[in-house]
Amino acid sequence: MTDSRRLVGVGVSPGVGFAAAMVVHWGFPEVPDRTVEESDLEAEVLRLHAAVREAVDGLEALRERVLVRAGVEESRIFEAQILMVQDPDFLAGVELLIRKNQLSAETAYEFKALELRNLWASSGSAQLRERLTDLTAIQRRVVLKLMGQTEREPWSGTLGEQVIVVAHELSPGLTVQLDREHVVGLISEEGTRTSHAAILAHSLGIPAVMGVAGALQRVRDGQMILLDGRTGEIILEPTRPELEEAKTRLHRRHRLELKLEAGLSAPAVTPDGRAMSLRGNVDLPEEIEPAVRHGAAGVGLLRTEFLLTGRAVVPSETEQADYFRRVAQAFPGQPVVVRTFDLGGDKFPAAFDAPLEANPFLGWRSIRVCLDHPEIFRPQVRAVLRAAVGRDLRMMLPLITRVDEVLRVRELVEQERAALRAAGEPVGERLSIGVMIETPAAVILADRLAAVSDFFSVGTNDLTQYTLCVDRGNARLADRFRTEDPAILRQLRTVQQAASAAGIPVSICGEMASEPLSAVLLMGLGFVELSVAPPALPLLKLIVRSVPAAAAEAAAARALEAGTADEVREILRAAIGAHLDLALIDPAGALPAYRPPTTIPST
Ligand code: PEP
Ligand code: MG
Repeated sequence: MTDSRRLVGVGVSPGVGFAAAMVVHWGFPEVPDRTVEESDLEAEVLRLHAAVREAVDGLEALRERVLVRAGVEESRIFEAQILMVQDPDFLAGVELLIRKNQLSAETAYEFKALELRNLWASSGSAQLRERLTDLTAIQRRVVLKLMGQTEREPWSGTLGEQVIVVAHELSPGLTVQLDREHVVGLISEEGTRTSHAAILAHSLGIPAVMGVAGALQRVRDGQMILLDGRTGEIILEPTRPELEEAKTRLHRRHRLELKLEAGLSAPAVTPDGRAMSLRGNVDLPEEIEPAVRHGAAGVGLLRTEFLLTGRAVVPSETEQADYFRRVAQAFPGQPVVVRTFDLGGDKFPAAFDAPLEANPFLGWRSIRVCLDHPEIFRPQVRAVLRAAVGRDLRMMLPLITRVDEVLRVRELVEQERAALRAAGEPVGERLSIGVMIETPAAVILADRLAAVSDFFSVGTNDLTQYTLCVDRGNARLADRFRTEDPAILRQLRTVQQAASAAGIPVSICGEMASEPLSAVLLMGLGFVELSVAPPALPLLKLIVRSVPAAAAEAAAARALEAGTADEVREILRAAIGAHLDLALIDPAGALPAYRPPTTIPST
């Protein structure tokens, strides 16, 4: 295959698509600089508000549609846009421009949006970059209405044939309108696994590749394209053998799915008798049922940020306690690990008045926010304490870098326990409090942290980002985000050793645990608890039941000596290949659906 026919991006929604390209140059309408007579200014302001109302109606309709086609979480993306389009400060700014400068409503709106866009784009903040997509979507919607034009959405269900949409950027609004019958693939130049459009494409089951540099220049309208939404590979005008190969891949995937289904109820024990605990990561209520169905032995990571998604206020203590009870009830007798709010980085919901930061991932996030805002943190702690009565509910703290952070939380928990008791409220007798090991500082201090923690859970997503200095959401750096890097392996060994020396359990809850080769490595390093996205559980179980612990240990020992992530992968492939048909776990073929880490849609 020559390189001129090949493009590579980040596979964000699995599946293989083959169809003609529909290249979409999705630009803004030309807005002329137009002024209005003084006597017409009030009418112009009214026109602005009418257009905003119509935009809200349109967004509401979209939200409904997404609710039916995708789910609650996805529909919240539009709640965020609905809030944004009605932002009183922004609209007051537009009104001022109309009145003071006698500008037409669309000209004033464009000016104001441009001002905001420049501010956000130059802030260097990942959080605001995500918001730019929302801004683009609402700006387009309102300006088109003001100019009396209708949206040109060529893929809204009227297409007669199948296409792969190629665009510079896909907004959630565009993605959700795609008709799965007609759009069999998506390619965009911008976007990462955690962008809203990627999350939606995945929920809608449309194979998608994002972060494809130069796609608009390289792909011609009508050109035949083959894309693999898992590997991120795109082939222009594929040959017959290339198409045959893609078909084989699909068949292989189907075969594996059947095999995995058959093993769902079998115990997670290696052929040489090591029992593993395979738990589920639950980000949304919709994932509880799949986690149960896929045989999760409890929840190793209950992300709680969704409780704040698209909401204008923080949910009450009772609402949170009810949710925690509901999750625990789905896993009777098994642990459920509630992670306290991990806000910040790219996750700042509307309820939160987040500051602008140049480096949000190194900024005010996670436990730092919670400790600074006891009025948000204390109700969550109380909710966990109340829901823990008679249940194995545990509490886990994200982004710990210092021992005193854990001590402060422990003190706060004791205060809340005492207050609840004094109020006659039943509380969990002993609450296990654990720490996420997801910063190099926490690894270095693992022995000291172990002395004040009831358990550890390694967050390999952040640990990799902070260790290798690779933004986990940056498409351009995706090939540098390697969880098998020797620098990560050494840290994993340190953490495992510190935990076992202190006699506390340690698990892995980052995406690494759901990647087949890495799962064997983790087993070999001595980790017996792994927590993964529910769709990854069946394959993980097959691996556990196929690869003896002794073989995993031997492979891990060799991997620790390796110099590069590639060498580590080769060692692991060889070790697994002796026990399992490698074709089944070939990343180009047969993995079950990848579930991107949840991002809270920002508003
Ligand atoms: C991690 O960082 O590995 C992790 C599990 O947490 P999150 O992906 O939610 O940051
Ligand atoms: Mg993390």
